[in-house]
Amino acid sequence: MIYQRLVSGLRDSGLRLTPQRLAICRVLSESKDHPTAMMVYHSLLPEFPTMSLATVYKTLNVLREQGLVLALGAAGDGMEHYDADLDPHVHLVCVKCHRVVDFMGEDIYTIQQKVASSSGYQIQGARIVYYGVCPDCAQAADTARERVS
Ligand code: ZN
Ligand code: MN
Repeated sequence: MIYQRLVSGLRDSGLRLTPQRLAICRVLSESKDHPTAMMVYHSLLPEFPTMSLATVYKTLNVLREQGLVLALGAAGDGMEHYDADLDPHVHLVCVKCHRVVDFMGEDIYTIQQKVASSSGYQIQGARIVYYGVCPDCAQAADTARERVS
């Protein structure tokens, strides 16, 4: 389970398992929307009004250094997005609304196995990101165009 993996990672790194840090692990393990540090922070603020953004960054950095969380880069918004789901999958980034969604498929497993076997590498993770305009944003743009013409 992802949550347990993150918590033991924090424990191994010697960080104290405060309620805040455990909550950060919970958000990361449950989240499907590849949150930024800011998004994690805001989602926990009602529960932990005194938590600092630095705590979120620190926890994310430790988890990333341990290879338990993948940093996906920016989604056209200049912010790092994170993913605790380490199963091989591809990401689709919308450059308009900056959403990051998963694309799963057997081909992606196959590619990773091929890369591993022909390179001799023990693959620990992959960051495959496609950029584009999501169906919602494309449709919104179409509707706006129709209104103008
Ligand atoms: Zn979009
Ligand atoms: Mn993902």
